[in-house]
Amino acid sequence: MKRLEDQLRQAQKMEAVGRLAGGVAHDFNNLLTAILGSVELLLRELEPASPLRQDAAEIKKAGERAAALTRQLLAYSRRQVLNPEVLDLNRVVADMDRMLRRLIGEDVDLVTRPAPDLDTVRADRGQIEQVLVNLVLNARDAMPQGGKLTIETANVELGPGYVEAHEGARAGAYALLAVSDTGSGMDAETAAHLFEPFFTTKEVGKGTGLGLATVYGIVKQSEGYITAYSEPGHGTTFKIYLPRAAAPGAAPPAPPAPPGKATARGSETILVVEDEEAVRSLSRRALEASGYTVLAAADGPDAVRLLERYGGPIHLVLTDVIMPGMNGRELAERLVQRRPGLRVLYMSGYPGDAIVHRGALEPGTAFLQKPFMPEDLARKVREVLDQG
Ligand code: ADP
Repeated sequence: MKRLEDQLRQAQKMEAVGRLAGGVAHDFNNLLTAILGSVELLLRELEPASPLRQDAAEIKKAGERAAALTRQLLAYSRRQVLNPEVLDLNRVVADMDRMLRRLIGEDVDLVTRPAPDLDTVRADRGQIEQVLVNLVLNARDAMPQGGKLTIETANVELGPGYVEAHEGARAGAYALLAVSDTGSGMDAETAAHLFEPFFTTKEVGKGTGLGLATVYGIVKQSEGYITAYSEPGHGTTFKIYLPRAAAPGAAPPAPPAPPGKATARGSETILVVEDEEAVRSLSRRALEASGYTVLAAADGPDAVRLLERYGGPIHLVLTDVIMPGMNGRELAERLVQRRPGLRVLYMSGYPGDAIVHRGALEPGTAFLQKPFMPEDLARKVREVLDQG
């Protein structure tokens, strides 16, 4: 009983920290959209030989590092947009084999034991790759003298007995991904704090404490379950249970990504609705630089008024999702009523909201995750305008 209480308290703490991290990441994404976008526009204007280029490039580099950290925070707080697809975990592991071997170096043996009849799961490939990389890096760090790293998969059923003993686990059919090392293992104190963000036993500059927090967030967001078994001196095993995909069958090959057009330009008219001034002005400048005519509004009512007054055609509305007064979706509905055929593109730094249902966007919803670069915006706008 005491143990379950502890587990529950721990889960609540993780929730609270997750919400905090998600809120911070959301605000950062607005700021980073403005910082990275402005520096990109600045770089376009500077002469190739300008001595200012180097400073601008440094700002951009720092901004990109901040964006990467923010992505980790979002993954932890489970507020990242997922692109779930039907995945064969064996294939994911096989595709990463070479890369993982390079990560662990020569002193560590990598052994994979794929289950021959493994069922598929529905998950985001990029995130599962990140999970594997994070676990493998930790395993490597735990085996400075070398050792053996085993990656295993299996079909498993979690029954009522297991669920009763493991707070947070749900009964059902899962594909198991297990990563084991023969390294240092860890003591009970470390094991108790393992998944907390910023918990690290590594020296300053080596560990961020975000690796396992990120893994935890991804697994939770994928409706999965994670456990760690470890004994000091005897290595560690992480087990990740991902729900099996409803319809068994081979994973369809992913369609090749469309080649990014170097310049995605246009001359249509776009209505930008965004309450954050910095993002609004950046979006306007980026779109104008790509040839578009831009109308801008600070909130929903403002946008409706503008659209009613404006006599010319409006081809697309680019709207933030969460705004005071009227949210992006309500606004889009009203605008489309008035102008049938109007295309809609949502943007947000905070996808855990109205348009995101259980981590996935509703089919057919065009969405741009902040922070985005001016060329991302131009490409996405072009894509939505060219659809159908
Ligand atoms: P970081 O690797 O940056 O320290 P993580 O969140 O990935 O952050 O890990 C937190 C801590 O958990 C590590 O500092 C380490 O003490 C412990 N840990 C994680 N994986 C292992 C492992 N495979 N073997 C031993 N200890 C581990």
